[in-house]
Amino acid sequence: MKLVFATNNLNKLKEVQEMLPDSIELLSLKDINCFDEIDETETTLEGNAKLKADYITNKFGYNCFADDTGLEVESLDGKPGVYSARFAGEPANSEKNMQKLLMELENTTDRKAQFRTAVALNLDDKNFLFEGICKGEILTKKQGAKGFGYDPIFKPEGYKESFAEMSSSDKNKISHRGIAIQKLVAFLNKY
Ligand code: IMP
Repeated sequence: MKLVFATNNLNKLKEVQEMLPDSIELLSLKDINCFDEIDETETTLEGNAKLKADYITNKFGYNCFADDTGLEVESLDGKPGVYSARFAGEPANSEKNMQKLLMELENTTDRKAQFRTAVALNLDDKNFLFEGICKGEILTKKQGAKGFGYDPIFKPEGYKESFAEMSSSDKNKISHRGIAIQKLVAFLNKY
C-alpha cells in the first residue's frame, strides 16, 4: 500500500521508515512532487496534524498521515506545546529554542516535561487519530549531539541519557512519535 507521510523532515522520515513493515510503501512529500508550504495554523497538535493530512488527501488523492509534536513543560503550563518549533521566534531555530527554555527554567526545580505527538491518518475516506506521549525532564544543560530539536536537553523518564545521546532506533522505541507511530502501525497491520 502506498501511504504518504506529510513531512519534509528527513530525520522523521527515517525514524518512521525504520518502524514500518515492507508491505507499506512510504512516500514523502517530495516523492509525490508536493513542494507546497503547508502552514500549521491550528492551535492544537491534533488540529495541525489533521490540517496537513487533509491538505494532501484533498489535493493529491493519497492516503496520508501527518504528525504534530509539542514539548509540554509542566511548570510552564504546557508551554511551548503546539508552538515548540518557533518558541524563540521566526525563523525556527533549535539552538535558540533550547536556550530560551533553559533560561525560563533557570532556578526552577520542577523540570518535568513531556513530548506529545498527535498523528492524523486519512485512509480510504476515513479519519483516525493516534497519540504518543514520552514523559521526562528538562536537563539544566545540553547533553549529546544526536537527534534534532530539543533532544539535547530532554531526558526521558527512567534513563540516564538525553534523547541526543541515544541511537535513533533506541529513541524510536520510547519516544512520543515512536509510540504514536507504533499505534498507527498496529492499526495498519490489522486494517
Ligand atoms: P514537529 O511537529 O514534529 O515538527 O515538532 C515541532 C517541534 O517540536 C520541532 O521543531 C522540534 O523543535 C520539536 N520536536 C519534535 N519532535 C522532537 C523530538 O523527537 N526531539 C526533539 N524535539 C522535537
